[in-house]
Amino acid sequence: MSKIYGSIEAGGTKFVCAIGNDQLEIIERVSYPTTNPKETLKLVIDFFNKFDLKIEGIGIGSFGPIDIQKSSKTYGYIKSSPKIEWQNFDFLGTMKKAFNCPIAWTTDVNAACFGEYSLGNGYGKDNVSYYTVGTGVGGGAISQGAFLEGASHPEMGHMFVKKNNGDTFEGICPFHKDCLEGLVSGPALEKRTGEKGKNISAINPVWNLEANYIAQCVYNTTLMLSPDIIILGGGVMKQEHLIKKIKEEFSSLMNEYVKISNLDNYITTPKLGDNAGTIGCLALAVKESKK
Ligand code: ADP
Ligand code: ZN
Repeated sequence: MSKIYGSIEAGGTKFVCAIGNDQLEIIERVSYPTTNPKETLKLVIDFFNKFDLKIEGIGIGSFGPIDIQKSSKTYGYIKSSPKIEWQNFDFLGTMKKAFNCPIAWTTDVNAACFGEYSLGNGYGKDNVSYYTVGTGVGGGAISQGAFLEGASHPEMGHMFVKKNNGDTFEGICPFHKDCLEGLVSGPALEKRTGEKGKNISAINPVWNLEANYIAQCVYNTTLMLSPDIIILGGGVMKQEHLIKKIKEEFSSLMNEYVKISNLDNYITTPKLGDNAGTIGCLALAVKESKK
C-alpha cells in the first residue's frame, strides 16, 4: 500500500478528518461535531491512531483567526474565537504531541484554495484566489505558488463594499456590521429574508444585492491581487443561478478596465465542491512531508 497522509478540516461546526494517499485520493473520511478541544481532538487523534500504517504527514486547515507567524510564542494557536473554549488554544502543539510527523498549519479557506490549486479549477495556475460564502465569508489566496501572507493571514471576507442605494439592511458582522460578511453571509441572507438560505427562491430580489456585493469583492480582488482565477465556494454558492449574476455584475463594474479573456474560466465555483478543503489539507500534508 502507498504512504498515507492525514487531513483535518477544522470548522466552527464540524471537523472533517480524512486519510488519503499522495495522489490526493481520499481513503477514509469522518466528521465530528466541534464541541470543545479536549472532546473533539480526542476523536480526531483516535481516528488517525486506528490506522496501522505510519502517517507521513498531516495538513490542518483551521477556523480562525489563527497564529501563523513561526516566530510567535503562540504560533499554532487559535486566537480569538466566538467559541470560548477554543480561544487561545494551542491546536498545532496538541497535534504535534500526539503525532510524530510533519504537520502543515493554515486557515480553512487557504486549505480549500490549495485543494483547488492542486487538483481543481486552479490546477496549473500560479495565482488563485478563493472565497467561501457560508456561515461567514472567508478569503485566501495563492500568489506565485505561495500563500499570500503578511503579518498574519489575510481577512478578505471583512472588506468593505459600497452599499446599494435603497439597501437598508444594517449588516450582521459583530465587528463591522456592514462589511462583506455582514452583508452577504448565509446568516445575513437569512436575516434579510426570514428564510433558510437554501429555501430562498431564485427570483427573490435579494440575489441581485448578493450578486452585486460579491461582484464588488471579485472586482477588488482582481485589482489588488491580479489572480488567474477567483473561485467562490461555501453553502451560499450552492444557489446555482448566483454565479451567472455575479459575472454579469462584475463585467459591468469592471467596464473592461482590466480585460478578462474568458469570464467563465475566471470566476468559478470549486471543481472539488465540498472536498476542496479535505483535498487541500492532504496536499499540504504531502508537501510538508517532503520538506
Ligand atoms: P460553514 O460556513 O459553516 O463551513 P457552509 O459553507 O455550508 O458551512 O455555509 C453554511 C451557510 O450557507 C448557512 O448559513 C446556510 O444557510 C447557507 N446555505 C447552505 N446551503 C445553501 C443554499 N443551497 N442556498 C443558500 N444558502 C445556503
Ligand atoms: Zn466584518
